Amino acid sequence: MNDKEYFNKNDWSQAEIETLLNANGASMQELFRLGAAARDHFSGPKVYLRGLIEYSNQCGKDCFYCGIRKSNRRVQRYQLSEDEVLTAARYALEENYASLVIQSGELESPAFTARITRLLKAIRAMSGGKLGVTLSVGEQTREVYEEWFEAGAHRYLLRIESTNPELFRRIHPDNELHRFERRIAALHDLKAVGYQTGTGVMIGLPGQTMSDLARDILFFKEFDVDMLGMGPYLEHPETPLFAERLQLLPLTDRFELALKMIAVCRLVLKDINIASATALQAIVPDGRERGIAVGANVIMPNLTPQRVRSDYFLYENKPLFEEGVASHLAELSRNLAKTGNAIGFGEWGDSRHFSKRHSTK
Ligand code: SAH
Repeated sequence: MNDKEYFNKNDWSQAEIETLLNANGASMQELFRLGAAARDHFSGPKVYLRGLIEYSNQCGKDCFYCGIRKSNRRVQRYQLSEDEVLTAARYALEENYASLVIQSGELESPAFTARITRLLKAIRAMSGGKLGVTLSVGEQTREVYEEWFEAGAHRYLLRIESTNPELFRRIHPDNELHRFERRIAALHDLKAVGYQTGTGVMIGLPGQTMSDLARDILFFKEFDVDMLGMGPYLEHPETPLFAERLQLLPLTDRFELALKMIAVCRLVLKDINIASATALQAIVPDGRERGIAVGANVIMPNLTPQRVRSDYFLYENKPLFEEGVASHLAELSRNLAKTGNAIGFGEWGDSRHFSKRHSTK
């Protein structure tokens, strides 16, 4: 198939996707080239920045992979003040990022809901509505999603983590807070409320197969996602899943597989936004730029205040100190220029897929 035939292809089978995910050597390089070409074709050659604010590591959940899980007593718990969030938001605005992501440990309480609502309104007032806001604060009721949407959030990221219900069960406790079905329902709620809806999976989980990943991609297509955030699974010593580290793929293979997932998702899902995850950077210093080079179009530089940076420690080797400063941004621009991509400063960079989905309604 030539590039055009790939771009026009819509009838992807699981077997075809698996073949691409298994590519190596020259055919993997060809896949990477195709991923970037499809990004340029469907979304344009620009990379959009979202300033990431890790609002709080207080979490009511106990996911077996995550370093800030409730049962990890070694974590110093924090919550940013409204001032701290607004300072970071102002920085994003001044640097022309145009968008923010507010991510947090997951709490379901009226107090938490109200705090996020207040933050959203404060950010909207401070920026005169210029800063777009993505939320990534977990499973909530539809009413809560509605309240936040009205307060100014317009995108939401909620990774399904794995679309294989059995694998999902293996990496989460068996209780009402961690049900696969509830997570799927939450994704439907987000879409119905009107958010640009993003999901994603961890890549290289213990016990995960190529067929699982291929089916994840088919799920993304069927659900008709607007955005994706996917990254390699990285073990954290203070979590139950750490015990299974011996069966993991070597880090370099997990990194490669994550790049292949980005490229294949770009080919199959075409005009969506795909984030190049921070977890890529935990394996290779320029990992996020490498994600861009194979088809991603969003990077989320970390703007979390240094005083709590090391407390939002989801996985080993999470990059901590070099970010959010002007020199880092300059380096990022230089690296991106090498891949032929410019940063879309001052642009929201909404998922074209979402705009189309809504204009055809
Ligand atoms: N509580 C929120 C957001 C915080 S976690 C939520 O669940 O949506 C954000 C993402 O970090 C998760 O969706 C998960 O995919 C990823 N993550 C957590 N632990 C990880 C690990 N050990 N390795 C790689 N990614 C991890």
